[in-house]
Amino acid sequence: MLDLTYSEPAAKRIQGATGDWELVIGLEVHAQVASKAKLFSGASTEFGAEPNSNVAFVDAAMPGMLPVLNEFCIEQAVRTGLGLKARINLTSAFDRKNYFYPDLPQGYQISQLYHPLVGEGEVLVDLGPGVARRVRIERIHVEQDAGKSIHDMDPALSFVDLNRTGVALMEIVSRPDIRGPEEAAAYVGKLRQIMRYLGTCDGNMQNGNLRADVNVSVCRPGDYERYQATQDFGHLGTRCEIKNMNSMRFIQQAIEYEARRQIALLEDGGKVVQETRLFDPDRGETRPMRGKEEAHDYRYFPCPDLLPLEIEQGWVDAIRDSLPELPDARKARFVADYGITEYDAGVLTAEPANAEYFEAVAAGRDGKQAANWVINELFGRLNKEGHGINVSPVSAAQLGGILDLIGSGDISGKIAKEVFEIVYTEGGEPAAIVAERGLRQVTDTGAIEAAVDKVIAENPAQVEKAKANPKLAGWFVGQVMKATGGKANPQAVNELVAAKLELRDPD
Ligand code: ADP
Ligand code: MG
Repeated sequence: MLDLTYSEPAAKRIQGATGDWELVIGLEVHAQVASKAKLFSGASTEFGAEPNSNVAFVDAAMPGMLPVLNEFCIEQAVRTGLGLKARINLTSAFDRKNYFYPDLPQGYQISQLYHPLVGEGEVLVDLGPGVARRVRIERIHVEQDAGKSIHDMDPALSFVDLNRTGVALMEIVSRPDIRGPEEAAAYVGKLRQIMRYLGTCDGNMQNGNLRADVNVSVCRPGDYERYQATQDFGHLGTRCEIKNMNSMRFIQQAIEYEARRQIALLEDGGKVVQETRLFDPDRGETRPMRGKEEAHDYRYFPCPDLLPLEIEQGWVDAIRDSLPELPDARKARFVADYGITEYDAGVLTAEPANAEYFEAVAAGRDGKQAANWVINELFGRLNKEGHGINVSPVSAAQLGGILDLIGSGDISGKIAKEVFEIVYTEGGEPAAIVAERGLRQVTDTGAIEAAVDKVIAENPAQVEKAKANPKLAGWFVGQVMKATGGKANPQAVNELVAAKLELRDPD
């Protein structure tokens, strides 16, 4: 596999009154498993369905109902683990995490505390060309989602929607290796990208498909390196956990606010108390939700309804063999195969659909030119309208057709942009558009010569000037291009203008 070389950036520093501070961040990301059915029932996971319409008896905790594990969800979690280069545990087990909440009819959530399905892995977080942070993954465990309480539909009543109850989640726990707000957002973005390549999570943050609990602490320069060398958490500051973040922007704002709050507190002689906080996006602040002393005692114990989960190495290997090419490898391959920059390769591989589109355009053509057109013309145009590649009105075959017309000399780059605009707004086959609308580049020297003669005859004063200063010949070229509607072959025009004005070669 190809690899790009990278270096790790310095941690973000914040200057306090008593010196510099550094940030230490660890994330617990909840990713909804892309599955049509729930983790322990056959009920649908469809988003936006009528409230309480996707609820099996077991989801509603009806007496006597037993959970039946959905093998597909486990396969998706294993795929995710393999995509994060993680150890897969052939034996794992489900535990009950007990707490009371109206949207949790069982009175417990089935999760994996003691024996998670997936162990240590890692993810490379891209932070710019040649710059990346390696973040260690501690574990991924599989668990059920809870339902939803709705408090804003009636002044006096609360409602409960159990559609989400029992939907499979993967909780991806990182080590505290993230060193700044931008890195935290980029980390979530990279997980999302990898899971979208794998097809294991849609990563739709607005729908709550992907949410993160963000742990933040601050320390003095050098402390993190001491932690890394010893893995002793004593070198790090006390952390606070900001719950349930579902926007990249809010994640960054919350970390920035929280770090400054902790620094101010410490510099004031105070202590950070370990607690769970909530981010208020309207005020841009975090506020305490519950402290450690009020922390739940979940009374975890092995779920007696489910046997330990045993999977076979052969099954894991088969999943590994079916993994698609992942973002890092694809990006490195694009740089090597198409001769494009790492930055462009990053843009083209951001989404699997983007990469597939680009490869279809670039096949058998100039890779750099294909990348320029896909990024600048197509993505530029789609972004302007807030569209993704999946609704592009220009297919890869159509864009490839335009590039072929440039390659064969039928149209200039300038006319190609016109053709692109026509295909984008009206559709059609590029070659046919060029033929029908008379856009073919004029390479017939007779026609170009006539146009050059005309411009020279009409502008005697300019001719004198150009003879004295050959650099002014460009003005004639411009006039001829205008007169031919941009269709004249620019090289032929240049040569003819120079010859007619009897300009010597500038060399
Ligand atoms: P808990 O189960 O109480 O939430 P964990 O040890 O599982 O605690 O840690 C949860 C998250 O907190 C992990 O992502 C971990 O990397 C992060 N974390 C642990 N210590 C720190 C720290 N000092 N600063 C920032 N993040 C931390
Ligand atoms: Mg936690």
